[in-house]
Amino acid sequence: MRVGIFGGGQLGMMLGEAAKKLGIACRCFDSSSDAPAKKVCELIVGSYDDEEAVRDFAEGMNVITYEFENVPTKAIEAVMKDHKVHPPLKALQTAQDRLHEKTLFQKLSIPTPLFADISSKEDLENAVKKIGLPCVLKTRRMGYDGKGQIVLKSNDEIEKAWGAMNNQALILEQFIPFDRELSILAVRTEGGTVSFYPLIENIHRNGILHKSTAPALNTKGPLTDQAQQAAMKIMSELLYVGVLTIEFFEKDGILIANEMAPRVHNSGHWSIEGAVTSQFENHLRAVTGMELGSIEITQPSVMFNIIGSVPDLSSIENNPHIFIHLYGKESRAGRKLGHVTMVSPSEELIARMERILE
Ligand code: AMP
Repeated sequence: MRVGIFGGGQLGMMLGEAAKKLGIACRCFDSSSDAPAKKVCELIVGSYDDEEAVRDFAEGMNVITYEFENVPTKAIEAVMKDHKVHPPLKALQTAQDRLHEKTLFQKLSIPTPLFADISSKEDLENAVKKIGLPCVLKTRRMGYDGKGQIVLKSNDEIEKAWGAMNNQALILEQFIPFDRELSILAVRTEGGTVSFYPLIENIHRNGILHKSTAPALNTKGPLTDQAQQAAMKIMSELLYVGVLTIEFFEKDGILIANEMAPRVHNSGHWSIEGAVTSQFENHLRAVTGMELGSIEITQPSVMFNIIGSVPDLSSIENNPHIFIHLYGKESRAGRKLGHVTMVSPSEELIARMERILE
């Protein structure tokens, strides 16, 4: 079995690691010859605009998948004629545009922040009146890790925000003063079998995921039901195959959907050590038509991202409860360079990791 993956970042690398276990050969396509996935996958370096290169990459693959949302849809369309692509193009197109994403949530009666399409300064002024302050002005496309968004706290800030962002398609969203941020990872096969990992609690710093706790505390019952129903509705609507992630704000017992990712996700990295079958393995199982593996949790886990630069990790290196994953990327502010998962973590261990990361 051969799987082609658009993108060769750390998610591609971890898909490649899981593929080895399953006897699947992976080939990644990336614009950089330094892509982390090259450690474990065949790497094809090329431009997504080069249709011939994209087709050559797909040649001989049984199925094509992707590991980042901003894969140009033209590249997917170029390989769709001759190859199966999972998850479906519609899922990618929806996730690439916050307006389409929130419109889908609304259509499926999944709670989501109030939102408005913004094409002019008048639109923005009217939408701020309707949605209320505070609110968040975001780019519709290419936003990730909190990039491309400005929180508006007063009417005086409208002018400046408009000036800074008006060269792109925009959406205005209600600001949710959430109690917690939670995510769910669901996986669906072509035949419609669905498994859900437990709800995960996520803490972001400067818009970037800092820490994920799995399972999130006190989420059994209504919260889990809401998350699973939302995932089920989206997957059925899109005839989805593979892992789907939905990120929510929890406010007064209600889950409000912020965004979806049609791919394996940073908040599921703990599953490599903390679940019987990792998100990476189950994604590959789903897209290649294999039966899903058990999503049962083996041990509670906490995952920390290593961002910007790699700290001295020597004091935790030999701890049997700690698993360090480094992606081999060069240091850069705000860049995800690796992650550390602690299984059966103690308060002391978590505090130690926080200190190391400080
Ligand atoms: P996003 O790029 O939409 O995932 O946003 C990154 C982070 O910004 C989220 O994880 C939240 O912590 C925060 N954020 C984004 N949108 C909102 C919102 N409408 N209300 C409150 N916080 C938000």
